[in-house]
Amino acid sequence: MKPLGLYFHIPFCPYRCHYCDFLSFAKHEEEIPAYVKALVSDLKFFSESCRDYEIRTIFLGGGTPSLLSAEQIEAILSAVQTFFHTSCALEITVESNPGTITFEKLSSYLSLGVNRLSFGVQALQNHHLKRMGRIHTAEEAEQGFNLARKAGFQNINTDLIFGLPNQTLEEWENTLGQVLQWAPEHISMYGLQIEEGTPFSADYKQGILTLPGEEIEASMYEKGIEFLREQGYDQYEISNFAKPGFECRHNLIYWMNEEYLGIGLGAVSYLNKKRFWMTRNLLKYLKGEERAIGEEVLPVEKEMGETMMLGLRLLQGVSNLSFFNRFGKKIQDVYKKQISKYSPSGLLEWKNENLCLSLSGMMIANEIIQDFIII
Ligand code: SF4
Repeated sequence: MKPLGLYFHIPFCPYRCHYCDFLSFAKHEEEIPAYVKALVSDLKFFSESCRDYEIRTIFLGGGTPSLLSAEQIEAILSAVQTFFHTSCALEITVESNPGTITFEKLSSYLSLGVNRLSFGVQALQNHHLKRMGRIHTAEEAEQGFNLARKAGFQNINTDLIFGLPNQTLEEWENTLGQVLQWAPEHISMYGLQIEEGTPFSADYKQGILTLPGEEIEASMYEKGIEFLREQGYDQYEISNFAKPGFECRHNLIYWMNEEYLGIGLGAVSYLNKKRFWMTRNLLKYLKGEERAIGEEVLPVEKEMGETMMLGLRLLQGVSNLSFFNRFGKKIQDVYKKQISKYSPSGLLEWKNENLCLSLSGMMIANEIIQDFIII
């Protein structure tokens, strides 16, 4: 059976954070029961096209999936078991906002088979959390983490953001230092992006939002890598660090350009060399009037480009052997131009048979990776 990752998009949040442009709605919690029904009906609908697959990972992302009650998570997970083949070693992640959980809820999630939590912590200074529009304080983030441990979770990620408005290097180090004391198994750290259409973007345009600047942000990233390495976390992707054996298996599916099914509003799937995506219209989705609204059959050149673009995000880079097995060509024969552009300056390097970004390459990863989309 072919392996498959399964993603559920849960587009509900208690409040919209000021930096976020994800597909989610605040104050629509009353729609959650109907939304869960729609997800279950989609599972049934797509199960036929996935009968040769075995689900290895399930990821409930959002939005704020931890708004869902244990009964709602149970309805989704039992529908997965009913309609799909599943691995006996499933990784099941639920993204959680510390402001939406209780000990009872987390204990129930665990008993349903959820074995990984991903906490949006972002920062541990209350003035930053407030400026970002987060609904929790630093103290509540720590309490949430401790509750998850008490409930029995042994695989927890914390999401952090650096480069926040007026954030100092010292504050960033402080956040990292505190989170390291909690000893999560996995840490993701992302540089803040100002996304069009968000309150942060409006403030930035009006000149009332001051960012730390490129140099400090680069120092924050380097400091983060250094701190986490010293504490025994392996960097396995540009923004992701894990204790050995705790890499996020679901996200590895994306970075290795393998197959996944995305269920729910705006979710994207990649199956049988075809990408398709779901409607972003909540009302039509709930009424069952729209599901997948577009699809694209990927030509081999595009599949190669995406394999490089995603794989170069990984520290291990892209394996020439896997590339050859998949496409019948060697990386250096397809991407001669890009390799000779970035290798002499040390931005790209070969580690054994894998083509990788160096540390300096990772600092300008987006620029280099873009070059691989077109052969
Ligand atoms: S909780 Fe997450 S998805 Fe929701 S608005 Fe905030 S950052 Fe966006």
